[in-house]
Amino acid sequence: MEKIESGKIDISPQPIEIMPLVEQTLEANSSYGEQLRVRFALSQALPGVMVLADNGRLMQVLTNLLSNAAKFSPADDVVSVSVKRSGESVRVAVSDHGPGIPEEFRGRIFEKFSQADSSDARQKGGSGLGLSISKALIERMGGSIGFESQPGKGATFYVDIPEWQEQRTAEHRRKRDPRRPRVLICENDHAMAGYLSALLDEGGFSSDIALDAVHAKWLLNNGHYVAMTLDSILPDQSGLSLARELYLKKHTHSLPIVVVSDCADQARESLGGDMHSVVDWLGKPVDGNRLLAAVRRIVQQNQLPRILHIEDNQDTASMVRELLSDLADVTVSVDMEDAKFRLARETFDLVILDLLLPDGFGTDILTHIKDVRSRPVPVVIYSVYPVSEEMARRVAAAFVKSETSPDQLRETICLFLDSACLVDIKV
Ligand code: ADP
Repeated sequence: MEKIESGKIDISPQPIEIMPLVEQTLEANSSYGEQLRVRFALSQALPGVMVLADNGRLMQVLTNLLSNAAKFSPADDVVSVSVKRSGESVRVAVSDHGPGIPEEFRGRIFEKFSQADSSDARQKGGSGLGLSISKALIERMGGSIGFESQPGKGATFYVDIPEWQEQRTAEHRRKRDPRRPRVLICENDHAMAGYLSALLDEGGFSSDIALDAVHAKWLLNNGHYVAMTLDSILPDQSGLSLARELYLKKHTHSLPIVVVSDCADQARESLGGDMHSVVDWLGKPVDGNRLLAAVRRIVQQNQLPRILHIEDNQDTASMVRELLSDLADVTVSVDMEDAKFRLARETFDLVILDLLLPDGFGTDILTHIKDVRSRPVPVVIYSVYPVSEEMARRVAAAFVKSETSPDQLRETICLFLDSACLVDIKV
C-alpha cells in the first residue's frame, strides 16, 4: 500500500483483451473456491473487447474480489461473474449471496484495515487491506471500483476499466510518442483538460492529464515531464498549495509550472514572488498561443544536458552542482534506490557516481544505466576510493576525490558531455 501511495509501483496499462484475462483469473482461483465449496461461474461475457489495463495488477484486483465473494458465500453456492460495457468502460462484476455490506460500514469499506465486523478477520481471515489496495491499483489504471449490496441478500463488487478502441490507437500513439516532450496537465475541469491536451498535441508535445492533486503527484513520481499546467482549483488541494508542495520536494523542485486560473492575477498575488518554478499565469479562457509559447520557452531553456549525480554527501553534491551549473542540469540521488528509480524513468546524458552509498555499492548501478538514443551514457566515478583497473575500463573516467581538482573534474565532464550531447543541444 505504501508503495502504491508513493508511486513506487510499476503499473503499465496496455491494450489487452478482457475475456482471456477474466477466464484466466477464474481458473487460477477455482481451487481456492473449491476449498470453501464455492464455484465461480461466468454469467455474461464480452468476447473480443479490449481494455487499457495492467494485466498482472488487474488480475490481482479481480482475485481480491473473487476471494472476498468466496469467503463470504454460503457453502455450495455459486459466485457469478459478468463482463459488460458501462459507458466508455468495461465493467467486471462479481456477485455473491453472502451477508452483504451493512449500511453503517459502506462509507468505510475502501479504507485501509477496515472490516465490517472486527470478528470478520478471525472468522474469515484477511487484513482489511485488500479492497483499499484494489481501489488504489484500479484508479492508477484510470478505472474505478464500486459495489451494490442489499444486506442479507449478498453483494456485487465491480471494477470499471477504460475500454480500448482501435480507432483511438493512432492518436494515442502520437500522444505517447516518447520523443515528444511531455507536459502534465493538472486540471479539474474535464473539458478544459481535453482542450489543453489537444492544443499541446498540435504544438508537438505529448501530455498526460491528472484531474486531481493526488493523481498529479503520482504521475510526477512515475514519469518525466518538461512542464506542468496547473488549475488553481482542484478537488483535493488548492492548486497553489500543490505548486508550493512540489517546489519544496527534491524531485519536483525545478518543474516549471504554468498556472491556469479563472482569476490569474489574484492567484499570482496570493502566491508571492519567491517561487521560481511558476513561470507563467494564464487566465481562462486560455489563450492557446500564449500557452504554447510559454511551454516552448521552457523546453528551449531545458536543452541543457542532464546529469545524474549519485552521491550521499551533501557538500560534494552541492559543490558539483555549482561547478557544473552552466553546463548541465544536475539531479542528485542520495542512495541506490532513488538512483535506480530515476534511471528507470528519466533520461540522463551522463552519470557521476560515488562508490560507497548507504544502501549498496555504486558500481552495482552500472547495469541499470541504459543507453540513451542508442549511445551509451558515460559514467564518471568520483569517490573517496580508487577503483580496480577492470572497473576503470568499464567507465568513462574514474577520479579519487582527494587527488582531483574541481577544474579537472569539470574539464573531463565537459568533454564527455560534448560527445554525448552535441547532436541534441542545437534543438
Ligand atoms: P480482507 O482482507 O479483510 O478481506 P478487504 O479490504 O478485502 O479485506 O475487505 C474488507 C472488509 O469488507 C471485509 O473484512 C468484509 O467486512 C467486507 N467485505 C468485502 N467483501 C465482501 C463481500 N463480498 N461480502 C461481505 N463483506 C465483504
